[in-house]
Amino acid sequence: MKVVIIGAGVAGLAIGWRLLQAGAAVTILDRGQPAQGATWAAAGMLAVTAELEEAGEAESAFALHSNTLWPGFAAEIEQVSGVGIGFVRGGALLLAGNAGELEAMRSRGTVLDGAGARALVPMLADDVAGGLWAADEARVDNRALGEVLTIAFLKAGGILIPQEAVVTIEERGGTACVMTPYGRHYADAFVIAAGAWSGLLANIPITPVKGEIIALMPPANQPLPGPVIWGNGVYLVPRDHEGEKRLLVGATMREAGFDTSLSPQERERLRAAAQCLIPSLKHWTLSDHWAGLRPKSPDGLPLLGLLRGNIFVAGGQFRNGILLAPAIAQLMADIVLGKTKTIPAFDPRRFG
Ligand SMILES: Cc1cc2nc3c(=O)[nH]c(=O)nc-3n(C[C@H](O)[C@H](O)[C@H](O)COP(=O)(O)OP(=O)(O)OC[C@H]3O[C@@H](n4cnc5c(N)ncnc54)[C@H](O)[C@@H]3O)c2cc1C
Repeated sequence: MKVVIIGAGVAGLAIGWRLLQAGAAVTILDRGQPAQGATWAAAGMLAVTAELEEAGEAESAFALHSNTLWPGFAAEIEQVSGVGIGFVRGGALLLAGNAGELEAMRSRGTVLDGAGARALVPMLADDVAGGLWAADEARVDNRALGEVLTIAFLKAGGILIPQEAVVTIEERGGTACVMTPYGRHYADAFVIAAGAWSGLLANIPITPVKGEIIALMPPANQPLPGPVIWGNGVYLVPRDHEGEKRLLVGATMREAGFDTSLSPQERERLRAAAQCLIPSLKHWTLSDHWAGLRPKSPDGLPLLGLLRGNIFVAGGQFRNGILLAPAIAQLMADIVLGKTKTIPAFDPRRFG
């Protein structure tokens, strides 16, 4: 079976890799270089507690399943590529804004009072009320993940064509072919995995949601916090992989089309919010600021499965595309190969 995947982000690369392992011939087309979209811009959290507070049953079950796949997935791609991706199950501390919020957190799991939170992260402000301790949360270096998945895909015999954008998908009699500025690509199946741009290709209801992140570098000998920290409208993610030592502070949320310009106001807002949680951050150096586009569907759930004819879609992962990658890769490979059916809540045809 020949499969063409549109988009070499975490979704396209991971699906392509699983399809190759199952014996398919896979080509991925990307309009730029691999893994430079949202996969590059993300914070790399596998936030099964923080991001799933309002999730429905199907979303929670799928995310938790992916979380259990993550250790094996990370070990497998690291072994194939020989490169680490900084997978750490370091937990997350979800800070409460006040005593009432802390009380409400008790139904969700282990709660730490202010002293307990500061014992875990001594640099926290003296007035933190405490928070929910989510030991099961993990993180990866998502930029390394993109590189490593590219290596794994190529080593498994995949063909990756960068700098070749799909311009149109031509559909005739239930089968499709894709057109690029250089010609047509034919295949038994096509997978649209073009992130926030997927909606431009096949009238799929996926739209971009811009997110900005800043990175702070600690003064010499100053440690990073151990776990991910959520509070005051931001998250703080320690990035301590391969000699890099930075704290990511994210992220903004703005529906602004495909604009990825950086806002000095947002930069300052992120920094100020982080400093309320950890006052000593005012001595840390701002080392970077970037933006990316999250792929969002109207109901916030992913679209995973057959769209029509021989066109499949893997999109709409919104804020959790890194977390969901192992589960999406397995599910989509099985769907494309006809081994399983779509999960109804994620059926791409649910929007009519
Ligand atoms: C600021 C921010 C923080 C985030 N933090 C997290 C986090 O902590 N944890 C988490 O799980 N998720 C996070 N996410 C979400 C996550 O990054 C995305 O859900 C995920 O990366 C989507 O992966 P993708 O492969 O579908 O899209 P992308 O990584 O965007 O890849 C899409 C690819 O398609 C290509 N493409 C587009 N159009 C075409 C075309 N016409 N032809 C060919 N190629 C095309 C692009 O060049 C790109 O390489 C974050 C996102 C942002 C923006």
